[in-house]
Amino acid sequence: MEGSDGGDNFSKLKFKAKSFGSKALNSLKNYKSIISKHSSEEKKLYIKKPSNFKITNSKRFLVSISAVVLIFILLYMAFAKNAYSVSVNNIEVGRIKNKNVAIEAMGGLKKQYEIQSGTSVSFDFEPAYAKVRASKKELLDSKALQEQFVKYISYRVKSYIIYADNEAIACFKTKEEADDVLEAVKENYLKGVKKEELKEITFDKAVEIKEEFGELSAMTSVEKARKFIIDGTNEVKTHKVASGETFWSISRKYDITVEELEKANPEANSARIQIGQELSLIVPKPLIGVKTVEEATYIDKIQFDQKLEFSDSLYKDQTSIRVKGVYGEKEVSAIITKVNGLETDREIIKEKVIKKPKEQILVKGTKEPPPKKGTGVFATPTRGSISSRFGMRRGRHHDGLDIAAPLGTPVKAADGGDVIFVGTSGTYGKLIKIDHGAGFQTWYGHLSAYSVKVGDKVYKGQIIGAVGNTGRSTGPHLHFEIRKNGVPKNPSSYL
Ligand SMILES: [Zn+2]
Repeated sequence: MEGSDGGDNFSKLKFKAKSFGSKALNSLKNYKSIISKHSSEEKKLYIKKPSNFKITNSKRFLVSISAVVLIFILLYMAFAKNAYSVSVNNIEVGRIKNKNVAIEAMGGLKKQYEIQSGTSVSFDFEPAYAKVRASKKELLDSKALQEQFVKYISYRVKSYIIYADNEAIACFKTKEEADDVLEAVKENYLKGVKKEELKEITFDKAVEIKEEFGELSAMTSVEKARKFIIDGTNEVKTHKVASGETFWSISRKYDITVEELEKANPEANSARIQIGQELSLIVPKPLIGVKTVEEATYIDKIQFDQKLEFSDSLYKDQTSIRVKGVYGEKEVSAIITKVNGLETDREIIKEKVIKKPKEQILVKGTKEPPPKKGTGVFATPTRGSISSRFGMRRGRHHDGLDIAAPLGTPVKAADGGDVIFVGTSGTYGKLIKIDHGAGFQTWYGHLSAYSVKVGDKVYKGQIIGAVGNTGRSTGPHLHFEIRKNGVPKNPSSYL
């Protein structure tokens, strides 16, 4: 660490030292040349006075040596390394007298961060040191170095990380939060599960909470992490339901399947979406799956059998239920396995019949139906009581006959003919018109359902629809009209 971190600076310093050294060498050379100059001049002089020569020469030699030593001492004092350069990630942050200053600065900073974050803190760096020459005013004290450190270092705080199959999923300040998230994820898949029937709940991955040092910015909240683990993403994408939209049209619009859209919106009722309702478009892909095993006891119905009988009192295309089938009941004990709330296996362990089912008897007609054209004789179109007759009623003319009957009672063609209108028409509500030929038409209003379409040929007595309460109507009834050449006639005189 020290070598690689301090490397650049260190080589720079080495270079500096080299250049200082070469300067020193140069001045030394200069000095030498001065001396040698001197001595050559002196030599000439001493030739003339040979007696003094030896003594003077050794004295001079001593002086020279001391001068050189003195210069070396001065050089040493001027260029020796007396301080440390501190660097973080190859950046010099300051110069200090000794390493203790840095240790103290780091200690102070750690304490400061721990107070701020309310948890233990760890630095993810070690300062690198290099010996340098520095002047006194360059040196930083621990307080000043601490201020420098703040600019260059990052730190980690003690955290609790949820791992799934050794992959870090979410990071929290406390272990309680991590526990709460895992609990909430489990809870999410326990909707509709009775606590006493739950035998087993497990994650589909090896899940563990580890205490580690992590980045403060990576910390998340319980709710965010819960959503992240269940959805498998932090992405939020929604659609606001517009008028006329269905799950199908919305899924087409975003190129997902209806099933996926339902998975994304488990709370929404796909058959009853409201205008303005927000639907999520994120199909959950849980990062941690939850498997549950329940031992459930519940009541299930038993399907009834159906027996077919034939009768010549009904037309060939008619059926009638003579005896209505009744479902039976059984108590079932089963082991139900679910993954992420969706059933993957159901093993029935025990079944006890509580109530036997009752067979249904269906009668099928064998009689040849009448021709699909007018006979000239009309029959009552539905069973019921007459609630209003043809004629003047509260100052207005009532063009037909009202027959009150329960909602859904079959409505039959009063005579054979061609279906010429099927649809909603003002106060009539759902209306069917049949043309019988010879200028006759019959109209059937306030229906709840149709079983014919325009262009169909029908025989007399064929079921064409069901009694309803549509249009201007105060209760379920059939409004029945007979018209001749477009003029309403009194049905009572034809039936
Ligand atoms: Zn009416």
